[in-house]
Amino acid sequence: MIDSHCHLDHEPLVQNIEDVLSRCKKEGINKVLTISTTLRSFPKILDIVDKNEMIFGTFGIHPHETNTDQISKDEIISKIKLNSKIIGVGETGLDFYYNNSDKDKQITSFKNHIDAALELNFPLIVHSRNAEDETYEILKSSDKNLKILMHCFTGSLPFALKLMELNSYFSASGIITFKNSNNLQNTFKQLPLERLLIETDSPFLAPEPMRGKKNEPSFVRYTLKKLSELKNITPNELDKITTENFNRLFFNL
Ligand SMILES: [Zn+2]
Ligand SMILES: [Zn+2]
Repeated sequence: MIDSHCHLDHEPLVQNIEDVLSRCKKEGINKVLTISTTLRSFPKILDIVDKNEMIFGTFGIHPHETNTDQISKDEIISKIKLNSKIIGVGETGLDFYYNNSDKDKQITSFKNHIDAALELNFPLIVHSRNAEDETYEILKSSDKNLKILMHCFTGSLPFALKLMELNSYFSASGIITFKNSNNLQNTFKQLPLERLLIETDSPFLAPEPMRGKKNEPSFVRYTLKKLSELKNITPNELDKITTENFNRLFFNL
C-alpha cells in the first residue's frame, strides 16, 4: 500500500515520524509521498526524505500560499533537482473556496508548475476546489504529455469525465468514507481502476472510523477498504492495482 499524499512536515506527524512509519509498516504500507506546500517548509521535506528510505517527496507551492510564494518555472526545477527522491511537482492548482490568495496569482503559479512538470516529465499534483472550469481549461490548454494527478478528488462526475480525456489520475482520500459523500462515491464507481490512487492528506481529513482524530499515513487502509467496496473487488486486489498505478505514474515502471 502507498499513501500518495500526506504532509509529514506538519504537526503532530513531524515530531513522530519513526512511530508513524512503524505503524505504516505494520499495515503493509511501504511507500509514502510527502507533499510540499511552501518555500519555507521545503528544507524540512528534504530532511525527511533523506532520513527515511520509504519516504519520497515533491516540491510545489499550494494555491493558498501564492500571494507570498511566487516562483518561476526555473526556480521550481532547480528546487526539484536538489534531491533524486523529489519525484513530483506540487501541490499546485486553484482554490476559489477559501481564496486565501488572489485568483490571478494562483493561476500564474499553477501555470509555472505545469511548465516545470512538462520540462521534467514529472507528475503534476493538482489541488482543485470550487474551480472546476478554470482548472479544466488550464489543464486542457497545456501540452498533452502533461501527467496529471488530481489529489483528494472531490469534483463532479462531469469534471471527472472531462479530466479522463486528459489521461488524468484521481486520488481518493478519506472523504469517500464519509456518510454524506454519496455523489463522490458514485463518481469513483465510474472511474477506471487503472487511473486510481489512494491518499490520506494527513494530518487532515481522517477517514471513518477515525474521523475527528489527527490523520496519519497508516489510515490510508480505511480509504483502500472503502474504495474496494465501491469497485466491488477485494482490498488486496485494489492494493495491487493502486500500487502499480503509483509506480507507473511516478517511476515509469
Ligand atoms: Zn490539497
Ligand atoms: Zn495536501
